[in-house]
Amino acid sequence: MQAISVCKVKNLPFAIQMVITSSNRHEIEAMAILGSRLGAKQIFLVPVQPTLQTTHKHLNLLPEDCYEIKQEIRDLQNTYKVSIEPFVGFPNDDSPWVQCNALTMRALYVDYRGNLTFCCQLSEYADSQVNTDIIGNLAEMSLFDAHTKYVEMINVYQKEKLRRYNNGELTKLDAFPCWYCSKYFKKVDFMKKFPQDAWYEESEFSERSNGKKDASSV
Ligand code: SF4
Repeated sequence: MQAISVCKVKNLPFAIQMVITSSNRHEIEAMAILGSRLGAKQIFLVPVQPTLQTTHKHLNLLPEDCYEIKQEIRDLQNTYKVSIEPFVGFPNDDSPWVQCNALTMRALYVDYRGNLTFCCQLSEYADSQVNTDIIGNLAEMSLFDAHTKYVEMINVYQKEKLRRYNNGELTKLDAFPCWYCSKYFKKVDFMKKFPQDAWYEESEFSERSNGKKDASSV
């Protein structure tokens, strides 16, 4: 709130971002009202990405919750003047091809250690030790070389998704773009231990000994 006060005094536009979990999803409209009253330019609503901690604490949204929340956001957009936007992460059943900043290369994300990474959403995902999203460190390679590698990684990523699409291997949960990426980059292998969880998928987290190509080899 202090930062918002500074923005208001300096007449700077500001946005509010809310990560929606199972414990605060009832507060979405309250956030819209708060944002309106404070004069926010935009309110971004982001579904929590399942991590080991959020899974343990039962903070994950159910996949069906995300569809409901998407509708709720549409209703709020019709009610409030403030711009309310669902952020990438919500399901899209219309197309498997995602137009996020990372995959369209409208933004480059460099972490605090100087690593160019595939996407800010995947960087340091849940404190995971899995660094499959790191493209290269800019202290060791030029931005040009890192960018070239980034283009190649996106190419491999899209080809693999195309292969899955073609073979009918995309699952219902693959409609959630960031969830697909989390699996692809092996960020959510912990889910193997939660076979009862709504985000557990037999095809992804059971032992990959069924002869299928391991799509997450990156
Ligand atoms: S995790 Fe994947 S779909 Fe989500 S923003 Fe990043 S690159 Fe795009």
